[in-house]
Amino acid sequence: MTGARRVFLQRAARLGLAALSVDSVAAAAPGPAALSPLAPGIYAGPVDDGGPSLSPSLVAIGRDGVLVIDPGPNLRHGRRLIAAIRRLTALPVRWVVNSHPHPRQVLANAAFAELQPRPAFLASPATAARMRSRCDACLRQLAAELGAAAMAGTTIVLPRPVLREDTPLQAGGVRWQVRIFANAHSASDTALYAPALRLLCAGGLVTGQCVPDLRDGSLMGWRAALRALSALPATTVVGDGIGTAQQNIVPTLAYLDSVEHDIRQGLATGVDAADALQAVPGEAFRHWRGFVPRHALNVQRAWLELEDEWMRRAPAR
Ligand SMILES: [Zn+2]
Repeated sequence: MTGARRVFLQRAARLGLAALSVDSVAAAAPGPAALSPLAPGIYAGPVDDGGPSLSPSLVAIGRDGVLVIDPGPNLRHGRRLIAAIRRLTALPVRWVVNSHPHPRQVLANAAFAELQPRPAFLASPATAARMRSRCDACLRQLAAELGAAAMAGTTIVLPRPVLREDTPLQAGGVRWQVRIFANAHSASDTALYAPALRLLCAGGLVTGQCVPDLRDGSLMGWRAALRALSALPATTVVGDGIGTAQQNIVPTLAYLDSVEHDIRQGLATGVDAADALQAVPGEAFRHWRGFVPRHALNVQRAWLELEDEWMRRAPAR
């Protein structure tokens, strides 16, 4: 690894783990987003030094055009990302992939829909269906969180339900394997893996040392997805942060495994759901970003999930 690349990965990992605050989105500067190189033709951003920190988008520039994965939360952010891409290449953005149906990742589709020629918006069938049914509510919710000004002009642009596991995606000069996980971080999470680059783009599935958010996901489904992704020989993993598998996948899985272990022990020893948090204190993760309030909410949700399963398995009395 070159010195510059090592410094970039360290910086990106650090910034990727910084908080995504409401203010950081609302106050985003109007200039181009910062895009940093991961490999020849491959960039991630924004990882503005000391500035706004968002889940990074991935940009792949190939002779066949430009691929963007997870463009961001709103029209303004998408336009900044396009401006940053324009500083790197005049090639058209031909593909925008939505890895999962969460508004902070997909609503900047609106900016890319303004481009001529218009890119193809791609997602798994389940992500596309979820966006169709939920994006109206998600847009209203994000406007309530970030303020109407931050979401000004942001419209809903739905992807085509065309990504499938058995069909690699050739886009941005890269051949991507497509992995789709139902009920993991969200209802449907798509990860793209480029074997030639040993690069994994894992969307919301990997959070590094930030407490993952189980609100819209499944403890068991998420663990299974991360175990599957762990088996890939990826050297660079892009998720909520950018780093190695050791920096990104391993901590997220360790947290979920620990929650699962402690809940099962609690259920086996007759702990009441009302006392779940005492049974699953999460001590080892208390210093992680988002621990309060996310851990307590995760325990509530995961307890219900595992209790259901435990009751179904329990012999009838
Ligand atoms: Zn998400």
